[in-house]
Parts: sequence; C-alpha cells; structure tokens
Amino acid sequence: MINGLSMEIGDGRGTRFWEDVWLRGGSLKDMFPRLFSVSNQRGSVIGDCGFWDGLEWRWNFQWRRELFQWELDLLNQLHETLRLVNLVYDREDRVVWKFDKKGVFSTNSFVQELQVELLPEDIASFSFTRTVWKGLVPPRVELFIWFALTGRVNTKERLSRLGVVNQEDVICVLCNKGVEVGHHLFLACEFSWQVWCAWLTFAGRQWSCPGTLKEHFQSWTESSTSKYERKRWMVSFCAIIWNIWLERNMRIFQSKRKGVDVIIHQSFMNFKEWLGVDPFCC
Ligand SMILES: [Zn+2]
Repeated sequence: MINGLSMEIGDGRGTRFWEDVWLRGGSLKDMFPRLFSVSNQRGSVIGDCGFWDGLEWRWNFQWRRELFQWELDLLNQLHETLRLVNLVYDREDRVVWKFDKKGVFSTNSFVQELQVELLPEDIASFSFTRTVWKGLVPPRVELFIWFALTGRVNTKERLSRLGVVNQEDVICVLCNKGVEVGHHLFLACEFSWQVWCAWLTFAGRQWSCPGTLKEHFQSWTESSTSKYERKRWMVSFCAIIWNIWLERNMRIFQSKRKGVDVIIHQSFMNFKEWLGVDPFCC
C-alpha cells in the first residue's frame, strides 16, 4: 500500500486477517508464514479471529493441529505485534490517509484516537445507561451492569458460539438446566429468580416479569415516582445481578457453591454497603 495510506480497522469485518495489509510491516501472512500455513482461519476477516470481552477485544486463533514449541514462540511474537491493536465494534474498516506528528503513518496512534473518540459516544447511545452511570455502585459493578444490559457478558453460550469453549458446555451452573444465555442467567434461571423474588417479598411489591433484561431493568428501576426510591431500586438491581454473576463465577472457576439464601443475603449486604442504609428500613 502507498506510504501514508492504510487500512483503518474498525469492527474488522471488511479486512482479511492474514492476507490484507492492515499493519505496518505488511501482511501477517508474510510476517508469519509458518503460522499462516497451519491456520484454520485463512481468508477469515479480522472480526472472525477473536471476540469482544466486554469492551476489550480478545484474539482467538484456531490451528489445524497443535502448535510445536517453536511455533508457540512465533505465536507470542504475533500477539506482541497485535498488542496495541484495538478494534472498534461500531465502525466499519476503511482506507485512510493518515500521518502522525512526524508525518509517518502510525497504526497505534489512530487506533488509540478512535478508542477515545468512540467510547463515550457508544455509551451515550443507550439512553438507559445514563441511569446506570450514576456512581451509585462501585465502577466495576457499573461497568458489569452495562455489559449485562447490552448483551456483552461472556456467557457460556456466547463463548461457545465464538468457539472459545466446548459447544456441549453451555448449561447454566446455577440450575444445571437452562442454556446459559444472559436472559436465563440473570433472570429466567430458577436460582436467580428466587433472588429477585426475595427482594420483592421483603419490599412488599407486586411485579410481573417483562421480556428482556433491559425491559426488566426499566420496569424494576422506574416504577416509583420518588427519586430516592428509584435510586434504591437501581442499587438493588446492581446488587442482584452482581451477586448472581459472582456466584456463577465461583461455581465455574473455583468449584465452590453457595445456596440461594446466602446470595440473597449478600445482595442485601452490598446494597447496605453501597447506599449506606438497610434495604428495607423506612
Ligand atoms: Zn439456570
């Protein structure tokens, strides 16, 4: 490609990972011919060579056979080459003419600029996230809630679709029945459902479960006309989702489990910690 003219990678859906020239230094096929020869993703676009883990792009490569040790060293070099590349999920790939301050094209500089530019816009595009982004709960919890509401949590079903986990391993660890998609895990699962119901029972509130998690969020947090009440329901929503997620992770990654009563109690405790008052005091 002409010096200064380059591919600006957005969602990676219009650029072939191995064959196209989208990094300084040429095509990855030419930079890593050995890895290319054993890749199962020849001809694949960049967007098919990884997945979104929340806002972070994770590379996920597939090989025709297990790699030898010396090929693993090459793989490390490949990861190092890709280290500063960040995809932008809501922008298409395009050809651009771009120079950095020294007049030299720089892949990293524009990718970083794009990240800074695009993130707030994307967050702002979901009006309901304005409700989440209030600093009522710790930032990591806020961020996680946003992922959950926008369908970005890496559930087993999502990971299996991306080829990261075994296709048979998609069953919810909380009930061992349903497929672990976001809606099931956080809402429809009989385990999770008991947590929601416990809050309703203690609050003496009538409520019918709406369809999607986002509708559920709106129904749960916007029912009261009192601003303070809405804040309380907002924090309880975060406490419930967060504790369901922690329990799910503990079961998967540490093979430990707690009963639903403990999770309910923990969600009450988080509420108290974050808002500074008991959940059901007047
Ligand atoms: Zn379940």
